[in-house]
Amino acid sequence: MKIHEYQAKELLGRYGVPVPGGTVVATAEETRKAAESYGVCVVKAQVHSGGRGKAGGVKLARSPEEAEAVARAMLGMKLVTKQTGPAGKLVRKLLVTEAVEVKKEYYLSITGDNERAGLVIVASADGGTEIEETAREHPERIVQIPVSAVAGFKTYEGVRAAKALGLEGENQKELMGMLAAMTKLYLEKDCSLVEINPLVLTGEGRLLCLDAKVNFDDNALYRHPELEELRDIDEEDPKEYRASRYDLSYVSLDGNIGCLVNGAGLAMATMDIIKNFGGSPANFLDVGGSATAAKVKAAFEILLSDANVQAIFINIFGGIMKCDIIAEGVVTAVREIAPRVPIVVRLEGTNADRGKRILDESGMAIISASDMADGARKAVEAARAHAAETAKAEDQAAADSAAGPERR
Ligand code: GDP
Ligand code: MN
Repeated sequence: MKIHEYQAKELLGRYGVPVPGGTVVATAEETRKAAESYGVCVVKAQVHSGGRGKAGGVKLARSPEEAEAVARAMLGMKLVTKQTGPAGKLVRKLLVTEAVEVKKEYYLSITGDNERAGLVIVASADGGTEIEETAREHPERIVQIPVSAVAGFKTYEGVRAAKALGLEGENQKELMGMLAAMTKLYLEKDCSLVEINPLVLTGEGRLLCLDAKVNFDDNALYRHPELEELRDIDEEDPKEYRASRYDLSYVSLDGNIGCLVNGAGLAMATMDIIKNFGGSPANFLDVGGSATAAKVKAAFEILLSDANVQAIFINIFGGIMKCDIIAEGVVTAVREIAPRVPIVVRLEGTNADRGKRILDESGMAIISASDMADGARKAVEAARAHAAETAKAEDQAAADSAAGPERR
């Protein structure tokens, strides 16, 4: 789960990391009011994405009037950053923050290190908006310092980090405090990332967190009901959000074949085999080993709400889950929803014959497949045919409406 910059700063502040004062606003008037208390301020778009500065989502304002004008332009805009994709993200909220004199920008983060089964501090003296370029062109300028997930942060790790950043004396002490706080936050809240970029040296020579990103491990969210209020569903893919409510593992993709599969491995294989036959999956979807008819129906609705979907491929291996139960779920869902696209079903495993019989006898237009390859091939063909048909119908409709007035 991701949260906004202002929420990340609030959290870090609570753990003892110094952050500049700021106010969250949703209108231009509120922005002017907030700016009055800061004099010179920075107006920052609050969207779940980095790279805002380069995309016009971070602007300096020298007066409350200027802040108001900046807010007017920024609110309601689609911010397109390197991370958002071409569709961009709608700006609904802004953070008005006091402008800080910056002497130097650093990069500092804590994330998981799967290979060492621990954490790692990532630090660079070349922080700021060019960190991706630094990672690509000068990876040696980015230092990684392993930290034990059991023992937590140790002073000597902080000394190494300070050396890497070239910080001494008071600044080294400040850095130690920050790292201890960041590690504590990371472990207590089951984060997957705690990042400060830039961490800055101010005009007064103090270290300050100017921008922060905190991500949480979704699999541990059940342990943190207090984090639920930080969730902003406006920032999430509505289909993925809905899927999470039904406990479905769903990832939205940009192809045109909707996939309904049980088991993550089978779901991956299904996407591969669709590609193999020249198609393109619209999603990854694992309904899990204990899918109920209600879950199958929800999965169907999510797939059909994607306008790109031209066919649905249901690929089920009945192990614990029996094929006849799935078949009944599919028949019920198809009867209630009346899908607008062709459906290809492949059932294998426990009670597969019974399942196939249920589908055949339902009298519904379900295309039955004998195996995975057959199913993938049929799904790709069905999607192609359906897309062509839809395009033809649209052309016809356009021609009819164009010809309409002349006929009268
Ligand atoms: P991001 O582009 O989404 O990572 O947004 P940031 O909050 O990191 O802002 C981008 C850049 O704007 C930073 O790297 C800074 O160089 C600059 N910036 C942001 N706030 C201030 C500020 O208060 N003072 C100064 N001098 N620069 C700032
Ligand atoms: Mn940043």
